[in-house]
Amino acid sequence: MNYKSANEYYRSLFGQKIYRLALDAGCTCPNRDGTLGYGGCIFCSGSGSGEFAADRDLPVRKQLVQAKEKVAAKCGPGKYIAYFQNFSNTYGDEEELKQKYEDAISDPQVVGISIATRPDAISEKMYGILEELAQKTYVWVELGLQTIHEKTAAWMRRGYPLPVFDEAVRRLSALSGHLSVIVHVIMDLPGENEKMMLETIEYLNALPIHGIKIANLNILRDTDLTLEYEKSPFPLMTMEQYIELLEKIVRHLRPDIVIYRMTGDGAKRTLIAPLWIGNKRMVRNSIDRSFREHDVIQGSAYSSR
Ligand code: SF4
Repeated sequence: MNYKSANEYYRSLFGQKIYRLALDAGCTCPNRDGTLGYGGCIFCSGSGSGEFAADRDLPVRKQLVQAKEKVAAKCGPGKYIAYFQNFSNTYGDEEELKQKYEDAISDPQVVGISIATRPDAISEKMYGILEELAQKTYVWVELGLQTIHEKTAAWMRRGYPLPVFDEAVRRLSALSGHLSVIVHVIMDLPGENEKMMLETIEYLNALPIHGIKIANLNILRDTDLTLEYEKSPFPLMTMEQYIELLEKIVRHLRPDIVIYRMTGDGAKRTLIAPLWIGNKRMVRNSIDRSFREHDVIQGSAYSSR
């Protein structure tokens, strides 16, 4: 069998490899500013789960120049997707955010924009802005779901019930233009067994989504999860167990859903557990090897970073 990686998808769309530039729109999150709560999701760090984004004090155009320079120094010149990654990037003054999105896509090397957010942080006006944007460029809206199971969602303090997510997916996918929905999920959450994790995947199969980002639970410094873990440590999957789970996920996933990520991507310097995830090269090679051995893929699982 095979599945669609982000790299393949980008190549089919743009005819070349595409790099994502992590930018910062200067947003906060209703789960952090007191609207829903102050502590945020239990695993969220002070940077809003965006460790690699550019300096939020700089205007977006300057962030973009800096981010392009960094990527070009490693990978050479190319085409880019402007990625608003940390916190909830549709949450704030809509006109100001619209200007930031417009600034990002005004760069001729930017071929699309990816906007990470929460399904309950998209206002009526923002739906209109996203639709307008999708007439001009490719737009991916990334929604943090993590799990379909309400008990786990309450434990992680996600702050919205599943029907809110369903409604956002329905509304976003009904917008005209080039707009696609990517969903973030986390595996190995405490209290979830394999059946429950695969139920999340099956649930997504039935929705009009375009892509998925899969991560295993990463325990990162400066999060409430670390406090909980240090107080009473709970078991986390070994790399081998996680790869075995990934193979099942790939086999369960609707074949047209693009897989953008298969592991957590927290910064190594902030990683508390599981430590194996810090060795990204080893993890990628192990996934590739195992997928080939078990006929999950023919080529490489890793090409989308
Ligand atoms: S929704 Fe995102 S930014 Fe907000 S608290 Fe949760 S992980 Fe952090």
